[in-house]
Formats: sequence, C-alpha cells, structure tokens
Amino acid sequence: MTTMIAARLHAYGMPMTLDRIDVPEPRPTDVLVEVKACGVVPNLARVVSNFFGKLTPDNKMMPPLPAIFGLDPAGVVAKVGEQVWSVRPGERVYVNPARSCGSCRMCRSGQAQDCPSWTLQGYFGRSQEVMRAYPYGGLAQFITAPATALVKLPDTMSFETAARLGYLGTAYAAMKKIGVGPGQALLINGISGQLGLNAAQLALAMGTTKILGTGRNAGLLDRVRALAPGRIDVLAVADAASQPDPLVAWAKAATDGHGVDGMIDCLPPGAPASAMMRALYCLRRGGRAVNVGAVMETLPLNAFWLMTNRIGLAGSVWFTTGEGEEMAAMAGAGTLDLSALEHRVSPLSKVNEVLAGMDDRNGGFTNFVIDPTRV
Ligand SMILES: [Zn+2]
Repeated sequence: MTTMIAARLHAYGMPMTLDRIDVPEPRPTDVLVEVKACGVVPNLARVVSNFFGKLTPDNKMMPPLPAIFGLDPAGVVAKVGEQVWSVRPGERVYVNPARSCGSCRMCRSGQAQDCPSWTLQGYFGRSQEVMRAYPYGGLAQFITAPATALVKLPDTMSFETAARLGYLGTAYAAMKKIGVGPGQALLINGISGQLGLNAAQLALAMGTTKILGTGRNAGLLDRVRALAPGRIDVLAVADAASQPDPLVAWAKAATDGHGVDGMIDCLPPGAPASAMMRALYCLRRGGRAVNVGAVMETLPLNAFWLMTNRIGLAGSVWFTTGEGEEMAAMAGAGTLDLSALEHRVSPLSKVNEVLAGMDDRNGGFTNFVIDPTRV
C-alpha cells in the first residue's frame, strides 16, 4: 500500500475533500498506524470554520493547508521506525495526539503538557513546526506518530470506544488533579454532555462515593443517574439567572450540610460565568475545583472568599499518554464501564455530513466516529 485516502481541508469554511495521497513513511522513532476509528468532536466544526484561528491575529494556531484533521485516532500499528523496540506491527493502539517539542526545559523535565510548543495533532496548537512534522490527523487511512504517544488497547476495548479517549482523558487528568476518589463527594457541573458523562463513568471507576451532577435536559439526566442510582444524583438546573438558585442548597443537603469535596466544570460553549460560580459555591471549606469546560466569560470571583474558605481552583487540558494507559487498563479490567456509549459510526466520505449534523445527539451518550477503512 503506497497511497491512501485522506479527508483534507483546502480552505477554511469549505467542505473537506477525499484526496489520494502517499502513505507516509515513519521516521526512526515514529510508528505508522492504520486508522480503524477516529473520534469526531463537535468543536471540530468550529475549528474547520477557523473560529480559533481568528482568535490569533497571525493565525499561527492552525495547521497549514491542506490539512488533515481528526483528533482521536485508534487503529493497528502497521510499521515501526528503526529505533522503536517496544511496539510491534499488529498491536491495537490509541494515538494520543498531544505533541510537544521534546527538548525544551518543560519537556526535558517530563512535563511535556507545559511545553510552549504543545500542539494537538490533527487539530490545532502552538507550533507550526510540530504541525508540519505531524500533519496526519485521524481522518485518513494511515497516520504517523511518535511511538511514545501510543496507548495500547486491551482486547475488550473496541476501536470505537477508544476513539472517545480524548474526552475521557480530559476528564480523568482533571479529576486526578483534585484528588477524586473513595470517600469523596464530587459535583460534575454539566454531567450529561460528552465530558460530563465520561467524568461520571470515570468517577465511578475511581471509587468516588457520591457523584452529584447538573444539567438542563431531565431525560438525559435520568439516564446518567441510571448508571449507578445509589451513587449518582442529578439536578436539572434552569437558566443561571433564575432565583432562588437551588443548586447550592441541594448539594449541601446531599453532603450533611458541608458541601462537596471536589467540583469538575464541564459546561459547554456559551455557558455563562454565573453557572460556574454557583457550582464553586457548592464546595466545602477546603474543597477543590478544576475546569475543563468552555465558559469563556470572566468569573466574578472574590479572592477573599477563595482565601478564607481555602478553595482551590485549577485549569486542566488534555492528558498524558501514561494517563491514557491507566484508563485503558481500567477498561480492560472492567472497573471502567463505558458500555453506555452509543457509537454512531460513519464512513470517511460522510465526514462533512457528520460535522454538519452533530447537534443531533443524545447528549454525551452519542459517540461520533469516522471509520476511514470505509470510504
Ligand atoms: Zn518542549
């Protein structure tokens, strides 16, 4: 196989086209992966319309065109570079798209996520050099990636499920930062979306005793609670401006009046700052919050309240390949149950229709996947 089909974007705001291009040759420390499934996130529709490129005046965040997008590829190793010794052709893998320069101070100290060149392969990022070095997103039949980016998949984890590891990992890394685990009460703000549902599934796997969640769609919230009715409780919240706000009273009543130990904010784009603030007010004294949601408004956050209540607030983006391995191990052992995901698999030729139709979904339960082996 010397050529392949890739969905390529030739101009922002235009549909992708299926192009026949050469199959790339892996460099010495890289692997070639035959993509069997690639997760598609709703945000990709905004990316290919250049929403994020317009946020930076010199447009340096976006890959050079024509570009191959596709954030969450899973597949089979087809070929390995001459300096790759621990991965063999035929192995089933997820490709963590997080790339970094490999040689700056943060990379050298093992904190590649803090690299100034940190870039998501097949999406966008901070380095044109990295995007040129790894121009193959998962909406192609083959991609190259560093061998260090591979998460080996257990046999019981389908490629479609693995294509969800981006959302899963984002929630997982965030919850590890605030110490989610046994004996804890966790509030998931926005529990019925992609991030929120995956956060709930992971919190169950991580032994979290009590999981509280907010959302707007009562039907979806009931489905989330049904994952573990004894441990998950949900509250449908109305417009953030409505008064009185029942959320804080509800969360305190569920925790003997103290408040929750942790809060992960998974709110969708367009959510107001007030919706995040009321979730912060659900924390107990000393509680910790982490944000992976899309609130873009400035928070009306009182620093004196933060200090006197010993509140912690952190941001988190994406996850390490090591954290990917931990999730794969939990899924393989059966402690992480992802069976509630509904895979909606489409051939590569339907990519533009998939991007245009992503508002039609059962909240976070729907898992949009492109199968590039079908054109
Ligand atoms: Zn670096």
